[in-house]
Amino acid sequence: MRISDLGEFGLIRNIQRLSLRKSSSALIGIGDDAAALKVSSSKTLLVTTDMLLEKIHFDFSFTDFHSLGWKSAAANLSDIAAMGGVPRYCLTSIGIPDHVSVEQIRDFYRGFHSLMKTHKTVLVGGDTCHSAKGMVISITVLGEVDKRNLLSRAGAKPGDRVFVTGTLGDSAAGLEILKKRAKGQGGMIKGAEARPLIAKHIRPVPRVAAGRAIARSRCASAMIDISDGLSSDLAHICEQSGVGAEIHSDRIPISPALMKLSAGLTMPALCYALSGGEDYELLFTVPPRKIKMLQSLRIPVTEIGSVKRGKALTLVEDTGIKKTLQATGYDHFRRMESPQNAQRGRLPL
Ligand code: ADP
Ligand code: MG
Repeated sequence: MRISDLGEFGLIRNIQRLSLRKSSSALIGIGDDAAALKVSSSKTLLVTTDMLLEKIHFDFSFTDFHSLGWKSAAANLSDIAAMGGVPRYCLTSIGIPDHVSVEQIRDFYRGFHSLMKTHKTVLVGGDTCHSAKGMVISITVLGEVDKRNLLSRAGAKPGDRVFVTGTLGDSAAGLEILKKRAKGQGGMIKGAEARPLIAKHIRPVPRVAAGRAIARSRCASAMIDISDGLSSDLAHICEQSGVGAEIHSDRIPISPALMKLSAGLTMPALCYALSGGEDYELLFTVPPRKIKMLQSLRIPVTEIGSVKRGKALTLVEDTGIKKTLQATGYDHFRRMESPQNAQRGRLPL
């Protein structure tokens, strides 16, 4: 069987089934944003690792080493945020191709630490190798959370409301603008207007404080960070929780910048919001009786729908028409089959 028939998540399920041992102290193992490991009766260790590959996750024609360091930190901190945790330590493993200089690696680490420092997260190890082709970056972050505040992708119940932090689709739109410019096609799009979208793509800000506040208030029933795209990450929550969901297209938060520039982009703004990856916002579910508690946290969040019985994912259009919401976020292996997937923007409807 070809890996592209299974897709990234089917392959991970295969790997999970082949793992020989389970541990009772691994409260959460494969299948969530981070593993949660019991270290004492109250404390839980969170561990997450993410790989970034040149030409797959980043391209030096669109980013610089400093921003790449920042983004590598952000992607991992975001997974700790999604569990409601506090990041503490990190390890960096890098594969360096011939085209990279010492000064560039130093720039990478300056960017990396400029974000890690704001979260008091300390580099404690890693590995350094030569890479035959393309830069390889693998970051691991260790964090902690009180066991009773731990949030996972499982736990959403029918009737819960679905919320997101911030705005969605900016990062994918920012990437498209960078690609258009590289091809000399960005003439229609003004620099100042595009800046917030590009910034969200190359220097995303992980929602660590929001994730922690949501977890400590214990208002949420499940949480994930939006790294693959709203439609896919909502599907991950639903799959792990054994539920379906219905979201409303006119409630999905879209930034003024994306609204303004969408006429010059390939797809409608909503498509970037539904299937664009790397927003690093938080998607979470809250039982109705705890919504007041969430509001008291004063975090900018938007209610976009609700959790339903069954498995269906539904998008209610502004006309009231309901459509099945396809999980159209990024999948590393389906990408080989479908060129649209590579655009991080198959139409989700
Ligand atoms: P995220 O997008 O939040 O980083 P992923 O989609 O990359 O999460 O991974 C989903 C889950 O699968 C995580 O629990 C991750 O640790 C696990 N996983 C992914 N690849 C492997 C692998 N090769 N071996 C073991 N676990 C894996
Ligand atoms: Mg994640």
